[in-house]
Amino acid sequence: MLKKGMKVAVLTGAGISAESGIRTFRAEDGLWEEHRLEDVATPQAWERDTEMVWRFYQERRRQLLEVDVNPAHDALVELEKGFGVDFTLITQNVDDLHVRAGSKRLIQMHGELRKLRCEECGHVCEAMEPEQLMEDYVPCSNCSNQRLRPHIVWFEEMPMGVWDYEAAVHDCDVFLVVGTSGHVYPASNLLPIARHTGSYCIGINLDPPLNVDYFHEFHQGKAGEILPEMVKEWLES
Ligand code: NAD
Ligand code: ZN
Repeated sequence: MLKKGMKVAVLTGAGISAESGIRTFRAEDGLWEEHRLEDVATPQAWERDTEMVWRFYQERRRQLLEVDVNPAHDALVELEKGFGVDFTLITQNVDDLHVRAGSKRLIQMHGELRKLRCEECGHVCEAMEPEQLMEDYVPCSNCSNQRLRPHIVWFEEMPMGVWDYEAAVHDCDVFLVVGTSGHVYPASNLLPIARHTGSYCIGINLDPPLNVDYFHEFHQGKAGEILPEMVKEWLES
């Protein structure tokens, strides 16, 4: 049971946004929206087939306008209100649903679809105006580069916020993992780390993830149904 004064860290994956209508990455066939990950989510793919990778992420970015938060995102906002500085949310998701729900103590370790980044000068900008969601490349507003890249962590690249999320995982009393398959490293390693550093580990997933054996408690089912109930119980205790 999670009690006030304890530190809680939460790791979410694509499964928490599934009930909002965003498809997950399918580990069984290695496809993300019908694309092989190595074709769209590596620096090599961006080098080799920039246009295709750009179109893929533009489609994902446009999709953000068609979806909305679900009760699982809202429940984590309530949990944060209850635990304040003792709460950290780490997400592998690149959608903006945790932000839109109102989560503040949030680390987006794989980047953000809403943002683009300049490979020449490092400038990062939020780019969600209608013309920035078309198929054309978006130029940098800070230098002469005509082609910003998605502000996404691709395979072989360093995740964002590493020190902060590792500290949160090491320090937490309770580690809650929601809707992640446990296939994507290094996020998949956070559960074993939390377990070995003495946290109580709780999992919620539609199906048992790859690393299910590390949980003290595993709840099988939909995040949008299980998480709100769980959080309500914790906050009332
Ligand atoms: P994943 O797609 O590999 O696994 C999703 C997991 O969610 C599965 O284990 C599935 O059983 C579970 N799930 C599906 N519906 C659920 C529900 N309603 N409630 C609870 N669980 C549910 O996800 P991952 O581990 O996050 O890895 C995906 C990678 O691809 C990440 O790197 C991520 O950045 C990227 N990705 C992001 C998004 C997004 O931002 N929404 C979507 C697809 C892929
Ligand atoms: Zn620039």
